[in-house]
Amino acid sequence: MAAVPFEIEALKRNWRRRIEAMRSAGELPIIDIESSFDVSTFDPSDYARAMDEYGIALIAFSPQGQSWTESARVVVALDPWRYIPTTTAGVPPLWPKEGKEFLEKTARQVRSDRYPLMGEFEFRHYPSPRQLARNGARRDIEVALDGPLGHALFRLSEETLAPFQIHYEIEDRLLPPLEAMLKQYPKARVIWSHLAQIRYRSRSKIYGPAYVRRLIESFPNLYFDTAFGGPNSRYPASGEFHATIWDRSAGGIQKEWARLIADHPWRFLAALDIGGDRMDRLGEQSQNLRRFLDALPSSARPIVAYKGGWRLLFNEEI
Ligand SMILES: [Zn+2]
Repeated sequence: MAAVPFEIEALKRNWRRRIEAMRSAGELPIIDIESSFDVSTFDPSDYARAMDEYGIALIAFSPQGQSWTESARVVVALDPWRYIPTTTAGVPPLWPKEGKEFLEKTARQVRSDRYPLMGEFEFRHYPSPRQLARNGARRDIEVALDGPLGHALFRLSEETLAPFQIHYEIEDRLLPPLEAMLKQYPKARVIWSHLAQIRYRSRSKIYGPAYVRRLIESFPNLYFDTAFGGPNSRYPASGEFHATIWDRSAGGIQKEWARLIADHPWRFLAALDIGGDRMDRLGEQSQNLRRFLDALPSSARPIVAYKGGWRLLFNEEI
């Protein structure tokens, strides 16, 4: 395991060199801000090879486990060139059942070990396509964002300045509590994962580029990650195309989204959304992410791909 507190300055020197090497080879490096892993199936040499092949400079890798785990220290020790240590993901079985203890442990470790980022916490999560295929409804989760766990998490981010990710399905009724929390905790650094991923259109009439623009212009510490499916991906439970950003008739992404991202590129962060049950998807997710990056105005592309993630995590430019 890597020593803690993490030697972030030394790690950053490696990471910078890796990004520089990709840039000088004419590649667009990518920082993946949101992925998780299962340490028992992680193969560091496979991953190193695949990341180099697809131009993935760094992965903010959050472990999943049966208990709060320090496996982030394992991946950093195995490969100090490629992984940004991230706290254990807030997913079942621990979350939300033992949410209070889980957050207390997260708070202690963020402070003592200096994790630069806290892993994705599921507040509203429908079963994923893979879980549906396995017939599992175990991850149909609803935790009030403005309940005790939400308050504890937002407060922790304000106190430590460590950003955190939320999985929060897009539904009209869930927007007012989110806005209330952003207002109450203006210094909490929130990454709302899965931009424009709408699983049931009937539940979401408000969200769109105009709404996201209003949020961005109202809340300076709100970010979005761009992990979503390809243009033809459908959510199996509803049968709907859930990655609503794409323009499926003209190709690329819809103009209003492109304009919004061009106006506020620092608020959008590249992400692959690898998970413990899909460790083999790095190539496919990378190709999908590159298709999205290619569709962006060129001024926004490097910012979304890696510059924004770097600035958010380390408060400096790259
Ligand atoms: Zn998610």
